[in-house]
Amino acid sequence: MSAIDSLPPLREVIQTHGLSARKSLGQNFLLDLNLTAKIARQAGNVAACDVLEIGPGPGGLTRGLLSEGARHVLAIEKDSRCRPALEEIAAAYPGRLTVLEGDALDIDPLAHLTPPIRVAANLPYNVGTELLIRWLTPRDWPPFWESLTLMFQREVAERIVALPGSKAYGRLALLAQWRAEARIVMHLPPGAFTPPPKVSSAVVHLTALPEPRFPADAAVLNRVVAMAFNQRRKMLRSALKGISPDIEDLLKAAGIAPTERAEQVPLEGFCALAREVAKR
Ligand code: SAM
Repeated sequence: MSAIDSLPPLREVIQTHGLSARKSLGQNFLLDLNLTAKIARQAGNVAACDVLEIGPGPGGLTRGLLSEGARHVLAIEKDSRCRPALEEIAAAYPGRLTVLEGDALDIDPLAHLTPPIRVAANLPYNVGTELLIRWLTPRDWPPFWESLTLMFQREVAERIVALPGSKAYGRLALLAQWRAEARIVMHLPPGAFTPPPKVSSAVVHLTALPEPRFPADAAVLNRVVAMAFNQRRKMLRSALKGISPDIEDLLKAAGIAPTERAEQVPLEGFCALAREVAKR
């Protein structure tokens, strides 16, 4: 295995800086730098871009992104123990890595980034899902990012790319596919991580579309879809009762039979319904 940079191997970095993995922070590290460089390549042409990385940990993916030529990486990490290891990387790539310490859910990174911007992350799954939904539902489109390359539990990755009629189809699939093109680009077994998690993982690459596939208000669509799939086995006329007393009329106006279940309705139908809801 060839080295991707002149920095020490990640096992050594972890030992030197005492970075024992903490479960509470979802720490399952990638220590194979050839693998992290491969994930970085899935992020597309990073050379022309600033890259926002959330949760760099000891810096495996960070080093992958920098060795692949990222113009600038802004890394947000909650665990202060990682700072010295990340500072060593910053010193090896002068002027190309900025590290912010804190919770990515509370920090607005935009002041530190210059477009075009790509996002790459290997995050605990609950934080990853929350951020993904935020990145997909700003009021205005296109968003600040051109692409998102994100590691998820395999089951969550499958929910992002799912099609109508499948069990995995739901809010994540609809929000992702409404405004982006989403693909699973890599599968990783538990053994790729240290310590190994209980489940397999997958990398999803999302490219922002210039415009949403169908018109709709992001907040209304998000609300309708969340409610529809909250009780996914119910007919839509009862699952969506909380939206409006006229829900049957709204469903009909959107071209959806009130007796349909959420699983059967394609993206176009939910966008039409969100427009009807917004009208009233
Ligand atoms: N990117 C590294 C890698 O691939 O080896 C670490 C991945 S580990 C799955 C997740 C990282 O996210 C950890 O370093 C953890 O401390 C960090 N993290 C967890 N919650 C976070 C949050 N809310 N904001 C920023 N970083 C967070």
